[in-house]
Amino acid sequence: MKNTFSFTKFVESLGCHLKIGFHWSAVSPDNKIVVVTIWDDQLNNEEYVLIPEGSPKWMSFAGGKELRKHVPIALSEGVETLGILCHAEDPNAIPRRRAYYDEKSLLVLRLEKRGDQVIALVTGEITPEIAAKGSVFNHVSQRKSAINDLETIPEGTKIPERLKTEGHAFMRNRMVRDYVIRRANGKCEYCGVLGFLMQNNRRYIEVHHIIGLGNNGPDTINNVVGLCPSHHREAHFGLAAGELNQHMQAKVNAINLVLRSIS
Ligand SMILES: [Zn+2]
Ligand SMILES: [Zn+2]
Repeated sequence: MKNTFSFTKFVESLGCHLKIGFHWSAVSPDNKIVVVTIWDDQLNNEEYVLIPEGSPKWMSFAGGKELRKHVPIALSEGVETLGILCHAEDPNAIPRRRAYYDEKSLLVLRLEKRGDQVIALVTGEITPEIAAKGSVFNHVSQRKSAINDLETIPEGTKIPERLKTEGHAFMRNRMVRDYVIRRANGKCEYCGVLGFLMQNNRRYIEVHHIIGLGNNGPDTINNVVGLCPSHHREAHFGLAAGELNQHMQAKVNAINLVLRSIS
């Protein structure tokens, strides 16, 4: 995925000044908006550990020190904290570098102290255009779940209606979904069958959480698989669903391993 702007430019369009391109957080000159990096693979059930316990190595880098300065500002009253979803080039690298970021929507965050940790809770999302105008409070919308996982779609309920009333129990990381759809490349990642062609000329693939979010499965590319409708249903309702999900996990692990080694 290629971004339209550099990360620095993007952050500046939100009225915040990023000191150096590889920093992970920024603050506006009037200390009213704090922008933080949210790594997509570490966002779990709409919770993100912004300041972890202890002093992990990445915190000793310039970006980590900046974040330590910015979080207390973000915790003070009347300050808006926005998260930019970022995908790491290499999740094991320290410090992490950005491969790309979500330029279409920003996460609206509420920060909470838990002991030594500071947790960011996703309370909604907002477009960068509206955030740039500085009117975050009035325009926050619930995070959209474009995902078509079966457990969120009760029998006989149309998806859009469901979304309105969904609350935030099962809000999904759209970037993870988009990533998995791209990774599947039109084919069921389990059986390899091609999805049918849709009106937009793309192939139809459903996205499935191997360990359901309701069972605290993470919303990450390692726990999400792109499936044909038949295998998706079997993964939920099949007699051997447990085994099938284990096979799917093995396939996803293998696919990710290959992708990691070539990227
Ligand atoms: Zn299949
Ligand atoms: Zn599913």
